[in-house]
Amino acid sequence: QFLADRIDGKGFAANLVDKLTEEVTEIKEQTGLIPGLAVVLVGEDPASGVYVSAKHRQTLAIGMQSFVHRLPADTTQAELMGLLDELNAAPEVNGILVQLPLPAHLDTNAVINAIDADKDVDGFHILNAGRLATGQDALVPCTPLGCLMMLKDRLGSLAGMNAVVVGKSNIVGKPMAQLLMAENCTVTVAHSKTRDVPALCRTADILVVAVGRPEMVKGDWIKPGAVVIDVGINRIERDGRSRIVGDVAYDEAGHASAITPVPGGVGPMTIACLLANTVTAFKRQHKIVTKK
Ligand code: NDP
Repeated sequence: QFLADRIDGKGFAANLVDKLTEEVTEIKEQTGLIPGLAVVLVGEDPASGVYVSAKHRQTLAIGMQSFVHRLPADTTQAELMGLLDELNAAPEVNGILVQLPLPAHLDTNAVINAIDADKDVDGFHILNAGRLATGQDALVPCTPLGCLMMLKDRLGSLAGMNAVVVGKSNIVGKPMAQLLMAENCTVTVAHSKTRDVPALCRTADILVVAVGRPEMVKGDWIKPGAVVIDVGINRIERDGRSRIVGDVAYDEAGHASAITPVPGGVGPMTIACLLANTVTAFKRQHKIVTKK
């Protein structure tokens, strides 16, 4: 019997987007200004193109300005840095995002760190990583930020809970662990060299999985009553058709108290959090306090 609640990331994201739409209207009324997001795409990667179009559409939909810069695949480091200098200086641009992955000839870290940290709405700049780690006002990476929002909505205070994060990437696992630590969880981070990942997962009241391996986490890795956040997005062939599954074997997780589905869980929250970060960046740049 499947007793776990399905955490409705899609509905949660729609609520967040509604709140942001109101907030953008309020900002316009208060200041006469419109928050703006610039997205830079280098090259022709089709998946990246789809993400950039979705970001553009949703930015406009909540009443913000969207500036999309599509650059050819052979753009040089100096050309890209030049564009970032312009965007850093542009007052109408409050958030800047460079779509990853970049073509191999470009130095990704140097590019990310060339963005003004206060406009770095992906939260990947070393200053934002450092601020997050030291409890200062950071722009926080969108995917873990969305995961945290759903966890707090579900659980209230997370203090004292055992949290296990599987995966330690800079964009998901590490910032997720920092966020959970800031909420006073006891956090363990597992990765490809961890011994006995299943046993570790069984200790988790909160289990966040961001690995990129289809249905790796089995039912008996999950403690009864745990809250499970599945970040993975994996395309597989099953029964002769292509489908998207997470890193957790969803059908085996019925004894969890709640779990995010894939699709429809973490994914929709990620773009909503990008919009939220852009509004946050605008407010910090203009020292504005609005009611939430
Ligand atoms: P990375 O490939 O950067 O990192 C994967 C992590 O998983 C690494 O830390 C790796 O360990 C660890 N890992 C790999 N194999 C195992 C294993 N067998 N046991 C334990 N740990 C393992 O991936 P990302 O963090 O970028 O993304 C993870 C997943 O989340 C992907 O499926 C991606 O598509 C999805 N994703 C979804 C988003 C969304 O909006 N929903 C946003 C971003 C990502 P090690 O460090 O030792 O190599």
